[in-house]
Amino acid sequence: MSKRKRVPVSDDAEHPERREILMMQEPTSTQPAPVVPVASAPPPLGFGRVFADTMLLGRYKEGKGWQELSCVPRHELSLDPAAAVLHYGQALFEGLKAFYGADGKVRVFRLDAHLARMHGGTERLAMPGLDIAKMREGVLDLLSRTKGAIPRGKGEAMYLRPLVIADEGFLGVRPAKEYIFLVLLSPVGDYYEGGMRPLKIWVEREHVRAAPGGLGAVKTAANYAASLAAAHRAKEHGFDQVLWLDAVERRYLEEVGTMNLFLRIGDEVITPPLDGGTILGGITRQSSLTLLREWGVPVSERRISIEEVAAAGKAGTLKEVFGTGTAAVVAPVGELVWGKERIHVGAESTISDRLRAEITGVQYGTIEDKHGWVTLV
Ligand SMILES: *Cc1c(COP(=O)(O)O)cnc(C)c1O
Repeated sequence: MSKRKRVPVSDDAEHPERREILMMQEPTSTQPAPVVPVASAPPPLGFGRVFADTMLLGRYKEGKGWQELSCVPRHELSLDPAAAVLHYGQALFEGLKAFYGADGKVRVFRLDAHLARMHGGTERLAMPGLDIAKMREGVLDLLSRTKGAIPRGKGEAMYLRPLVIADEGFLGVRPAKEYIFLVLLSPVGDYYEGGMRPLKIWVEREHVRAAPGGLGAVKTAANYAASLAAAHRAKEHGFDQVLWLDAVERRYLEEVGTMNLFLRIGDEVITPPLDGGTILGGITRQSSLTLLREWGVPVSERRISIEEVAAAGKAGTLKEVFGTGTAAVVAPVGELVWGKERIHVGAESTISDRLRAEITGVQYGTIEDKHGWVTLV
C-alpha cells in the first residue's frame, strides 16, 4: 500500500489554488503507485511558477570536495550577504526535463549531456569541477522520490533546474572556495498551450548577448542579465524576443532569445557554428543536428549574415526559421524585423514539425530511443 499525502508547494501569488499539489509518498511495497492526475486541471501550469516540495542539495568546500548530496524539503537558502555569487556572479545553471510516458515510465531527456555541459562550464567560471557520477545518482534519486509530482497532461513535464553558486562570504575578488549545488523541480505546462503561434522577432542591433572570449558558451546568470533589457524593450514594442547578432560586426546571427537558431533557405538547413565561443551549445540543437543528418537533410553549421537572410526573404527562399531549446523543443519564427526592414519568412514548417514530433516522441516514449538519449527513472 502506498499513502497519498497533500504536500505544500511554494507560494504562487497568481495561482493560489496551486499552493498544494498531490504527491505520492514513496510506495512501501513493490506495487507501483496508483496514478494520480496532478496537473491537468486549469489553470495551466505555465513555466517556473510551481515547485515540487523536494530539492537536491549538496555543498563543496575547498580541500574537502563535494559532500554527499541529499534530497531535502525545498527551503529558503540562507546566504552570507558577502556570498560571492551576489557580488561577482559565480553562478552556473542547467535546464532539462523529465517526462511521464503513456507507458507509465518516467524518462529524463539527455541527463548525461546536461551534466557534462554543466561540468564543462565550471572551468570558465573558475569553479570546482562537478562530481558527475554523484550528481547523476542524486538527480535520479530525487526524481524517483518525486515521481508523483510529475504532471501527466499533454505537453507537460517536470523541469529540472540544476544550479551551482558560490556561497563563500568573502569580498575579495578571486574564485570562491565554497559552493552550493542544488536541483530544483518545477512541474511545467505545455509550451504550446494556446496553440502554435509563430514568434515575432526583433533583430537587436544595439545590445549584444556575448562577445568572443566572453561567457556566451556557458549557461551562466551573467548572459541572462546581459540580455534582459533588450528582450524587455522588444516586448514593449510587440515582439516576442530578440535575435542576437555577433558582437563584433553586428551582422552574423547568433541566437534567438534563449534558444539556438535554425534557418532553412531553399533545401539547406543552417545553424550558426559554435566555434566562436559566443553561442550556447544547446542540447536540443545537437539532437536536431543528429536527426537532420540521419534524415539526409543538407545541414550546415556556418556563419550566416542578416544581409543573406534578408536577401533570401526577398527572393522567397527563406522557408523556415525556428529556435530550439529544452522549454519549447522547436519554436517557429514567423517574422523578423531588422530596423525598418521586415524580413519575410515562409509559412512552411516541414523541418520544424518533423523535429518536434521526433524529439517529443522519444521524450514521451512513443518513438524508439535509438540514440540512448533517455534515462529511465
Ligand atoms: C539553455 C540555452 C539554450 C538551449 O539549450 P538546450 O540545451 O537545447 O535547452 C540556447 N541558448 C541559450 C543562451 C541557453 O541558455
